Amino acid sequence: MDHPLRILFVTPEAVPYAKTGGLADVAGALPKSLQALGAEINLVMPYYRMVKGSGLPHQYLGGEIEVPMGDEKLKADLYLGHLNPHVPIYFIGREEFFDREYLYSTPRGDYFDNAERFIFFSKAALLLCQHLGFSPDILHHHEWQTGLIPAYLKSVYQNNPLFRHTAVIFTIHNIAYQGLFKKEKFWLTGLPAEMYNPEGIEFWERINFMKAGIVYADAINTVSKKYSEEIQTPEFGYGLEGILRKRKKDLYGILNGVDYQDWNPSHDSYLIAPYHLKDLSGKRECKKDLLNEFHLPPSLNDVPLLGMISRLADQKGFDLLMEILEELFALDIGFVLLGTGEQKYHDLFTQVAHKYPQKAGIRIAYDDHLAHKIEAGADIFLMPSKYEPCGLNQIYSLKYGTIPVVRATGGLDDTVTHYDPATKKGNGFKFVRYDAKEFLSTIKMAIRFYDQPEHWTSLLQNALAADFSWGRSAETYLQLYRKAWEEKRGKIAT
Ligand code: ADP
Repeated sequence: MDHPLRILFVTPEAVPYAKTGGLADVAGALPKSLQALGAEINLVMPYYRMVKGSGLPHQYLGGEIEVPMGDEKLKADLYLGHLNPHVPIYFIGREEFFDREYLYSTPRGDYFDNAERFIFFSKAALLLCQHLGFSPDILHHHEWQTGLIPAYLKSVYQNNPLFRHTAVIFTIHNIAYQGLFKKEKFWLTGLPAEMYNPEGIEFWERINFMKAGIVYADAINTVSKKYSEEIQTPEFGYGLEGILRKRKKDLYGILNGVDYQDWNPSHDSYLIAPYHLKDLSGKRECKKDLLNEFHLPPSLNDVPLLGMISRLADQKGFDLLMEILEELFALDIGFVLLGTGEQKYHDLFTQVAHKYPQKAGIRIAYDDHLAHKIEAGADIFLMPSKYEPCGLNQIYSLKYGTIPVVRATGGLDDTVTHYDPATKKGNGFKFVRYDAKEFLSTIKMAIRFYDQPEHWTSLLQNALAADFSWGRSAETYLQLYRKAWEEKRGKIAT
C-alpha cells in the first residue's frame, strides 16, 4: 500500500462524548492507537444531547447532507470534534432523533423509533464520506446500530468508486442486543427487496440489523477469542449462532485493550493516594477513603472488601449474587456496589443497603469518579457474568490490585488466570458453571488466600504486572485490516 491505511470508524458511542458501555471505551481509545501506528482515521457517531452538552470543543460544519428515508429526504447536521489533534470525530445531528435524554432507551424501554434513528445515522455516515471525498480502505463499524452499513455497500453503493476498494469489518460487542424491528419498517432502509430473506437481514419475519452486519461485512470480529467461539453456540449466540458458524472463516476475536492513561493507580487523580507495584501503602489509604465515602465502619479496614461496578442487568450475574446474599453477609467482609440499570435491581440493592448497613455500601448511580475509587479501595472484585464479551472492569481491577473473582466466560476467561498456590501463578479466581454455590465457594477461596499474605502478595504482583494496553490490540486490528483489504483487492482483481 502506498499510502497510510485510511479508516472510517462508525460507532454509536465513544468516550469522552457519550457512553453506555465498554464499546464507548473501545471507540475512544482504539482509534488513537491506530493513528499512533500510522493509520489515517476518521470517526463518526450521532450528535446526541450528551455530546452537545459535553462541554468538549466541537464546531458546526453545516447541514448540507440529505439522507433519503422512505420517500423523504431528511437533512443531517454535521459537527466536528477531535479525540486528539490527529483524530477527527464527525457527529451526525438531527434534533428529533438524537436530542434526547438517553442514547437508545429510557428506564421504561427502547425508543420506539430506533430503527429510523439508526437507519438515518448509517446512511448519513456513508454520505459523509461522499461529502468529504474520503475513500476509506477500511470501514470498521460497531454493534447493531450500524449493522446495515455493509448491506448498503453491497447494494446501493455497489458501483460507487469511493467504496470500490473498501473492506468492511464489523465488530460485535454484545450479541444479545441485535436491533430487531418489524418487517414493515424495511421499506425505510431503502435496501433492495431481495435482501429481506432468511439468508439476508430477515430474522423470523423481522429485520435484524446485527444480522445484516454479520452477513454482509467482509470480516467480523468480537472482543475476545473465547466470546468469538461462544457465540457460535446456541447458549450464547441468541439465535445468530448458525449464521456465525457459516462465516466462521471470517470471524475473529481480538481482546479489547484498556486505556492506562485513565486507569492506572500510580497516577490516578481520583485517588487519595497513588500506589504501584513496589509500594502498595497507598492502596490501604484508598480503602479507608472508600469506606468513608460509603459511611461504612472503619473496622472493615481489617477484612476483605468486595467491590462491584456494573450495569445492573441480568447478564452480569446478579441472580447468583441474590441467591447467596445471606451466606455472603454472614462472612467477615465488607461489600460496595456502584451500578445503575434495571429497576428490579435498584430495588433489591436498596434493600441490601438497609438490611446490612454495617457491611454494605450501595450507590445506584453512574459515577466515574467513584468507579475509580472502588477499583482502588476494594480488595476483591466480583464479576459473575452469565456472559461477558470482553469486560473491562476485571482488567482495571488487575491493574489496581483488586483481585477478580469471575465466571470463566468470554473475556473474563481470556484475561483472568486462576491462582495456583503450588506455582504461585495466576491473577484471580474463576468458576465455570453458572451456579450460585460455585460462585460462593470461589469467593470463599479468594478470602482464604487474602488471609495468607505470602499468597496474596503473589496474587497482587501477578495482577499488577498484567498488561492489556491498547498497543497490542491495535497491532492485531491492523493485521486484520490489512488482510481484509488484501482479500478485497484480490476479489476485485479476479
Ligand atoms: P458493559 O459494556 O457490558 O457494560 P464492560 O465491563 O465492558 O461492561 O464496561 C463497563 C464500563 O462501564 C467500564 O468502564 C465500567 O467502569 C463502566 N461502568 C459501568 N457501570 C458504571 C457505573 N455505574 N458508574 C461508573 N462506571 C460504570
